[in-house]
Amino acid sequence: MPPGAMILSGSSLVSDLFEMARERMVREQLIPRGISDQRVLDVMGQVPRHLFVDDAMQGQAYGDYPLPIAGDQTISQPYIVACMTEALQLTGSEQVLEIGTGSGYQATILSRLSEKVYTVERINGLLAGARKLFDRLRCYNILSKLDDGTMGWPDHAPYDAIMVTAGGPSIPEPLLEQLADGGRMVIPVGDQGVQELKLVHKLGEELEIQTIEQVRFVDLVGAHGWNG
Ligand code: SAH
Repeated sequence: MPPGAMILSGSSLVSDLFEMARERMVREQLIPRGISDQRVLDVMGQVPRHLFVDDAMQGQAYGDYPLPIAGDQTISQPYIVACMTEALQLTGSEQVLEIGTGSGYQATILSRLSEKVYTVERINGLLAGARKLFDRLRCYNILSKLDDGTMGWPDHAPYDAIMVTAGGPSIPEPLLEQLADGGRMVIPVGDQGVQELKLVHKLGEELEIQTIEQVRFVDLVGAHGWNG
């Protein structure tokens, strides 16, 4: 075998291993806990989560836990990503706003299930890393900016779905205003240790609010969040 062929088979072996780990994550972590939207399961089985963590942690990327990313932040546990995504009931035609781009993993998942994703991050280094991955994975329907996401992104409102991936003391008013009639928002609300994951459904002037799970997120820092 020529040496080039050996290198090729070696690297495809590694990507086969990641693919197997992803399939196992879907089979052992997501389906048994009740994730049933096939589109969500398919996308979780496709997006290469290991690219969104440090090289040294790639082997743990499909484990049943959150992992640290730069700036003392975290990429959520796969089940939490799937659960929050499923709660938005995306069909492919939605305009979605995400607050807390972080590694970019959640935005990538959303981008494959909706028409357009707008994502806001307050830490420059994280946003730069996420943007590189959006290019590499050809996520051309993601638009991102560096800002305080508790103010939303008024220019592109209203949004059919909003996901906040950091925990704040309350639901930021600008996000409620920028949610479309009939739209859904998932957001962790609570103290700086534990929060309740809330699903907000906006129906005209009414807000229907359900609690999905107890969760632990990093702080939502901003004008309508915690003080930085
Ligand atoms: N969705 C991310 C999870 C990142 S952790 C992922 O898939 O990796 C939460 C992120 O929210 C952190 O990157 C943090 O910097 C960011 N964040 C916290 N407060 C914010 C705010 N007011 N505006 C934008 N981003 C914020």
